[in-house]
Amino acid sequence: MDLLQPLFDLLFPPRCRICRSFLRGEKEKFLCTRCAELILNPADCCRYCGYPLDKEKKFCDFCVRQNFAFAGVCAVSRYHGPFKKAIQRFKYTGHLELASVFGKLLAQQVRQRNWPQVEVLVPIPLHPKKLWQRGYDQSQLLAEAMAQELKIPGQNLLERKRYTVSQTELSAGERWQNMNNAFTAVEKQAMPSCVLLVDDLLTTGATAHFAALALRRAGVKEVYLAVIARAVK
Ligand SMILES: [Zn+2]
Ligand SMILES: [Zn+2]
Repeated sequence: MDLLQPLFDLLFPPRCRICRSFLRGEKEKFLCTRCAELILNPADCCRYCGYPLDKEKKFCDFCVRQNFAFAGVCAVSRYHGPFKKAIQRFKYTGHLELASVFGKLLAQQVRQRNWPQVEVLVPIPLHPKKLWQRGYDQSQLLAEAMAQELKIPGQNLLERKRYTVSQTELSAGERWQNMNNAFTAVEKQAMPSCVLLVDDLLTTGATAHFAALALRRAGVKEVYLAVIARAVK
């Protein structure tokens, strides 16, 4: 393959996996410079919820008031521009190959955190009805890709208790109402003590909060969260 690589590159020039522009000598073979610059620096984000901040601050205004059930969040990028488009391709048009790209980028983010050793990766599950409509569960695919990168096993420790309406049209307050007690942890004799939840997006934090709460009520001591993108007001 090495001998044929130049010919292969000529016929199929490598493209950025996020924005699909052609790559011209970028070091990272799968990301263009522009997309690489959109990747969040953990030092510039709220320590609890991953919200991008001004340099001097450690927590965002929201986290001063809100007591989330998770202990920290990492996100690859804000939910805008090429990352937003790529996530939509991943979620709605079946571009499942993006799971490995996002998984790799998220694993890099997790490694930059001083979090305790995570024992299990847990995808935030879709309701079976939505799974049936979409045909795949993007958080599950993402967790599988991250499990390979981080060498940490994935496990489905959560279930949706009830069907929730889509969050996209709801206000922040309604999202909290909508997700209240939407999850339960599966019955298990020994729960891991530290878990990393995996989801595609973090907006108000309501979904992740109730998912983390269900795990903590079932005996998990610490829950962290990894999302592809952090939506910003
Ligand atoms: Zn790009
Ligand atoms: Zn925050």
